Amino acid sequence: MTNLATDAKQPLSLIYLDANATTQVLPQAAAAALVTMETLFGNPSSSHVTGLQAKQIMDKARQQAKQIVGAGEGTIIFTSGATEGIQTAILSALVAAKKTLDKDADYCLLYGATEHKAVPESLKHWNEILEINAEVKEIPVDRMGRLDMDFIAKEVPNALIICTMAVNNETGVYQDMNLLDRTIRTNNANTAWMVDCVQALGKTDLDLSQTSIDYAPFSGHKLYAPKGIGFMYVRKNAPFTAVIAGGGQEGGLRSGTENLPGLAALSAIFSMLLGESESCFASVATLHLFRQQMVSSLTQAFPEIVFNHSIENSVATTINFAIPGFSSKEIMDLFDAANVRVSSGSACSSKVTRSFVLDAMGLPAWQSESAIRMSFGPAMTQELVDTACSRIISVAQALQQNCLIIDTNSMAENTRADKTELDGLVQFKVGGNCSWLYVDQKTKSAIFIDPLPEVADRLQTILTCQELDLVAVIDTHGHADHDSCRVSIVESCLAEQQTDALGWPDNTQTTKINGNEYQYLTLGDKWLVKVATPGHTDDSISLLLCEPVTDATASLQVHYAFCGDLILMASLGRTNFSTSSAPEMYSSLQSLHTLIGNNSLVCPSHDYNNEFTTSIATELSRNSLLAQVINNEMNSAAFSLQKAKMDTHIIDESGSEIMCGALIGTCNKITVLDYDSASLAKALKQSNPMKLIDIREPHEYALQHDDRFNINVPLTRLVQFIQAQQDKQQELVLICRSGSRSQIAAQALGRLGFENVGHLKGGYALHQY
Ligand code: PLP
Repeated sequence: MTNLATDAKQPLSLIYLDANATTQVLPQAAAAALVTMETLFGNPSSSHVTGLQAKQIMDKARQQAKQIVGAGEGTIIFTSGATEGIQTAILSALVAAKKTLDKDADYCLLYGATEHKAVPESLKHWNEILEINAEVKEIPVDRMGRLDMDFIAKEVPNALIICTMAVNNETGVYQDMNLLDRTIRTNNANTAWMVDCVQALGKTDLDLSQTSIDYAPFSGHKLYAPKGIGFMYVRKNAPFTAVIAGGGQEGGLRSGTENLPGLAALSAIFSMLLGESESCFASVATLHLFRQQMVSSLTQAFPEIVFNHSIENSVATTINFAIPGFSSKEIMDLFDAANVRVSSGSACSSKVTRSFVLDAMGLPAWQSESAIRMSFGPAMTQELVDTACSRIISVAQALQQNCLIIDTNSMAENTRADKTELDGLVQFKVGGNCSWLYVDQKTKSAIFIDPLPEVADRLQTILTCQELDLVAVIDTHGHADHDSCRVSIVESCLAEQQTDALGWPDNTQTTKINGNEYQYLTLGDKWLVKVATPGHTDDSISLLLCEPVTDATASLQVHYAFCGDLILMASLGRTNFSTSSAPEMYSSLQSLHTLIGNNSLVCPSHDYNNEFTTSIATELSRNSLLAQVINNEMNSAAFSLQKAKMDTHIIDESGSEIMCGALIGTCNKITVLDYDSASLAKALKQSNPMKLIDIREPHEYALQHDDRFNINVPLTRLVQFIQAQQDKQQELVLICRSGSRSQIAAQALGRLGFENVGHLKGGYALHQY
């Protein structure tokens, strides 16, 4: 195990900064639970002594809960957690409302736009089950996450229930409860009001009986008690319908034998909150200082950081931020590598992870897509905060070392990282689109092919940090599905350069290959040869990175063929644009094949299925149309006919992306060897030397890795590895964070003919360093 963060050979300690998702059970709570499992294990409903002892634990927890939330004459009911409390509140309110519904009135059910999903989903569920058919309406929030009081005043007169939250789980933003109370009651004295108090417990003072709140659900696992225990406050005389009927526990309000271990643990936490036992909880003022310190470290490490909420109107235990140019997934992977657990925005069905909470607040899309939440609880300590802060600096240092952020003066001299030199081919993927950067470190020169706007900033950072000269920025064709950022890059780096419409520089040299003349650029000891390959569009070109031509009659030694949308993985570029021509594509395929042969790596401008690269040999075995063209088994007219048919089937499963070619062949998943720790250890003892490869990005690898995995081939450089690794029998075992990137890479290698590729299932997440 090696790690950058300490320069030591020990694993990094775990820093858990995801308390808003759940917390560890504190030793005091775990000990209390254990006693009720081993000794005081009675059923609180039993009338014998063991039962009475159990009941006493439960009664104590109830009294404590009442005191903590200021329940007054209200009732505390123990539940399995907040989701159950939310059901109970909504069911109770709607069952009562149903009795007095006026058939001609238009009713609504109101909830805050940033509410936990349990709330709108439960509203819709019970609205349908109870056949109330009220309109479920979202209350908008402003940029600070505060509920729109005018909207509430207008809509609440028709509301059967209004659901709001005390503190938001993603941003820590709290609402002005007094203002909310006044707004609701001035406009509707009788509507039911539920306040989700899950994230408020232990972080703000509560005095529920002094408000007109009818229901307030709470959850134990957000405050150091185990999962499966929660409670809810119900105001005196608020309507109530039990969700669970049965043996009449909880005064008939919630049947089922009580979760005594959970109750005992919760009671131990309550004792600390109430100062009845020695507490490890920091005061709110101290928690604010902790957050300030972490905010300062983040700002020092990432000067461009943007905070997604105002620190002033959020509880002290939550920080939500975005770092320009980085997705939440990238930052989460990075912090995970540093053994710091943070959370990204809520996962959703689309390709990018984004936060509906930040979307509702009207923050720009990039902030929502890049959101990272750090959250801690009142048991946070100064020592942990200090470690978290130094880990934040290490994380930034790893990014600097790999030229993903520029080293600014904000870092102390002694924490600055040495740069890792970039050499060779880097693939940038954005959805199904690819850009390609080729760097010749010796001559400090670089070319950028098919530049996507999303990677323009990252490219600029790499160029500056690596002190590279950009020789050219070239598109393989005028892209129909996305913008090129060529012009903007050229403006800032190559303003003087004269080029054609795609960025190929004027006055380049020419060479003869097989009797034809081609233009080429020099890049270190390689050439980049331009070949006209019209078909997909009339301006389409392919760019061949190859060894210099010394003998015009010998075959070209091509390392990479950047062919745009001519050959795609298991497909061919579409030819149904106004400037397309299937007969021209037919000729282009044949002439490209003559130049690059079967085995050169083909690097298209799309990769819809995570295959990274391909070769004509790989395509021949699954793309019969291409095979017939290459093998001269089909003429141009027949090809055009087939191609026209194919182009009527261009689909994207999600319907959201313009696909640049229809799938012709199969993209069947290749089976790869799955290793676990034991089978890997066994395999390593056998005679064949295996190559153990960590395929995470270099900044993750730098933070911490298993020393046995002493080769780092990040996915962005996989194509370069494939080019260099000629021995396809070599046994390869890949590892990543969770096993998903390693599986994708292993499958890609398998498709390209690597015969012995496996990966460590579950990755570092499930295997010790
Ligand atoms: N409400 C909020 C604000 C939450 O953060 C959560 C937990 O994620 C819940 C409700 C659901 O709580 P539980 O896990 O106890 O059902």
